[in-house]
Amino acid sequence: PAAALSCFLNTAECDMDGTFDNDLSKIVDMDRDHVWHHLTQHKPFETGAPRVIVEGKGIHVWDQNGKKHLDGVSGGVWTVNVGYGRESIANAVRDQLIKLNYFAGSAGSIPGAMFSERLISKMPGMSRVYYTNSGSEANEKAFKMIRQIAHKRYGGKKRKILYRDRDYHGSTIGAMSCGGQDERNAQYGPFAPDFVRVPHCMEYRRHEQDGAPEQNYGEWAAEQIEQVILREGPDTVGGLCLEPVTAGGGVITPPEGYWQKVQEICRKYDILLHIDEVVCGVGRTGREWFGYQHYGIEPDFVTMAKGVASGYAAIACCVTTERVFDMFKDDAEDPLNYFRDISTFGGCTAGPAAALENMRIIEDEGLLENTAAMGDYMLDQLNALKDKHKVIGDVRGKGLFLGAELVADRDTKEPVDEKLAQKVVAECNAQAVIIGVTNRSIPGKNNTLCYSPALIATKDHIDEMIAATDTALTRVFG
Ligand code: PLP
Repeated sequence: PAAALSCFLNTAECDMDGTFDNDLSKIVDMDRDHVWHHLTQHKPFETGAPRVIVEGKGIHVWDQNGKKHLDGVSGGVWTVNVGYGRESIANAVRDQLIKLNYFAGSAGSIPGAMFSERLISKMPGMSRVYYTNSGSEANEKAFKMIRQIAHKRYGGKKRKILYRDRDYHGSTIGAMSCGGQDERNAQYGPFAPDFVRVPHCMEYRRHEQDGAPEQNYGEWAAEQIEQVILREGPDTVGGLCLEPVTAGGGVITPPEGYWQKVQEICRKYDILLHIDEVVCGVGRTGREWFGYQHYGIEPDFVTMAKGVASGYAAIACCVTTERVFDMFKDDAEDPLNYFRDISTFGGCTAGPAAALENMRIIEDEGLLENTAAMGDYMLDQLNALKDKHKVIGDVRGKGLFLGAELVADRDTKEPVDEKLAQKVVAECNAQAVIIGVTNRSIPGKNNTLCYSPALIATKDHIDEMIAATDTALTRVFG
């Protein structure tokens, strides 16, 4: 197989011999000739062929050659939380589409109302759901709300939005302006003004931060955010946007004391806290519905997308508190006194219909509990691999959202050559196990292997992913 190619997590692989043992070869030709793949260099397709995924069931997918793969990354990008082939979701969507496929979001819908009520019941303190289509767009809605609040309440002054080094919030120019992954942003500037970067919070790499202490690192890292607020002027900062567990930036779990301090700082300076749950949300981190709920955070905005309907329909949400919502209806005389935003397909009925059934499945099948138990099991197995392979410098994660960072030297923590990390992914692919690696995010540090199987994963599935990784690491590093 050729080098791993496409996808956010760099999971797809090129079939260099270009032969197909079924009649899907025409489809592959159509794809190669006319489809522009996401995040993919197309040059290798001139001699090889793109991978086309044809079918999925449970935790497995089949490609154009009829080859079955264990999908260790839920559709490549942490999305298919309840697994493939869920007929009950397909039926819920079908029934809803026949009843009513669409009406603009200025009106309500039955699935929209029912899913909002259900979702809010899992999010104490939150109150309103604004529907949209993608994670990037959900984040843009939160930015616009924060900006509008700045204009309504603070004469436009408190409009800066802080974001963190290594975090990612989407692919639109607005979301990239709030993006802490330099390699992803390269060649797309200039970006929107008044988004300000704060330092990351990564215990494993704290040696890269001047003055980072060994004790109470979490609190110290949060204080670095406060330093930026003081430098910019607290009266200019309106929002802080963070991932609870950073995903594409390296699967970074927060150290103890971090979130408590962050919350304190937001309250102290009247800064709205925006939590990006696009990856962590809807069960991915286990036990809790959302990542932030592990850390006692009380956010003002929560955005979510991927796992909301597990990819059975396009749906994303920007969820706010009633306090935020109230700020948009406090002055009936003002003609601009509402959120002047629209998203044609946001809340399109298939989305909430699928999301409602997705949530029922997670609840009825005990998937939050399974995710916590299997996540702990997998973390143990990855740590055992770390004992065996010195190229693994660190193992991290929460629930079925795990990463293993590869380093050339455990003492200096120098990242392993990215090409070698990609080779490990390709070697897992060759064993019909799809894993990911953080891809094109932090220059020189795209070196973390990623695992995020569907929340239905069993010990057998995990053992298969671990065995494939073990073999792949031996093949690449000896
Ligand atoms: N936020 C996070 C944390 C993400 O990982 C992503 C996508 O991977 C996004 C936002 C953007 O979501 P979308 O690709 O649906 O626009």
